[in-house]
Amino acid sequence: MPTREMNALVKTRPEPGASLDRRPRPPVGPNDVLVAVQAASICGTDLHIYSWDPVMRERIHPPMIFGHEFCGTVEEVGSEVEAIQPGQFVSAEMHVACGHCLQCRLGQQHVCQKLEIIGIDRDGCFAQYVKIPASNILPIDPSIPRDYAAVLDPLGNAVHTVLAGEIAGQRVAVVGCGPIGLMAIQVAKACGASAVYGIEVKPERLKLAERVGADGVFNPRESDVVAAVREATRGDGADVVLEMSGNPQGVQQAFKMLRAGGRLSLLGLPPEPVTLDLVPDIIFKGATVQGIYGRRMYDTWYRMLSLLKAGALDLDPLISERLPLERYHQAFDLLRKGQASKILLYPNGIPR
Ligand SMILES: [Zn+2]
Ligand SMILES: [Zn+2]
Repeated sequence: MPTREMNALVKTRPEPGASLDRRPRPPVGPNDVLVAVQAASICGTDLHIYSWDPVMRERIHPPMIFGHEFCGTVEEVGSEVEAIQPGQFVSAEMHVACGHCLQCRLGQQHVCQKLEIIGIDRDGCFAQYVKIPASNILPIDPSIPRDYAAVLDPLGNAVHTVLAGEIAGQRVAVVGCGPIGLMAIQVAKACGASAVYGIEVKPERLKLAERVGADGVFNPRESDVVAAVREATRGDGADVVLEMSGNPQGVQQAFKMLRAGGRLSLLGLPPEPVTLDLVPDIIFKGATVQGIYGRRMYDTWYRMLSLLKAGALDLDPLISERLPLERYHQAFDLLRKGQASKILLYPNGIPR
């Protein structure tokens, strides 16, 4: 019999930090799946939770296990679950939609009115085991590398953003080259974008952007990035701009570098309201502006898994660290100092 307890990284109190505790293994309801976590990835949101930043204080109710990006092996399934079997390699959509509201009934579950997020609103995956509703489980083809399967949540954000409009033959500017921006560069190239430009303030991230295939990289601290994108596109501006920085200035520049008639998709979350000049930036431009949240259930997932299966994406350059869960302290330290990109944690030990 496997142990009924598990190691878990718990946000124990409403203050900075977290602690590695022994917690009971989650009980499996009739429609649940219990997954033994092979690899979990740390998101910017987790850093906010760990540091107890103001943005998370209303939302998170300690004590709770956080973490929402992972892959693993099915350990146990509930009595009503037929489609998933123990031993399967899986990941999961961690946004749980209610299934009953207007949006859910219209096929827009990603903006469900009663959306709950595993790892934010209920116990997450920084633990040896995580409980997931069976309908949210995605079986993963074993040919997809384990570590790639641990970052499907942010990769799904990238795929959702890139494919929210036409992309083949388009000149694309990606504003913000953190992990999701770097993924978006690759997805856009894989889907036929004719050129992709990366805009980012951190030099090491710009290097990564070039490494993953950006046709040009521009640093707003060193040059006029709007002029640079215009120049690179023969004066037109980018056909598609993907805003992934959440930086208020980055957002403003994103609108300026968009060509008339182009598409701007916003994924980054600015920490404060951003002022826009609607007349020149949107109305006279005839711009299409869209907010992007989560992943489309499950259109985004199938496209993303197909891209991975085709070998179209190289996520290795994005994974900077691999640590056992016990060394979470070091992981969050590296992220806080900006010395890491994607860090993977292994709650059941690092496999050889
Ligand atoms: Zn995340
Ligand atoms: Zn709903």
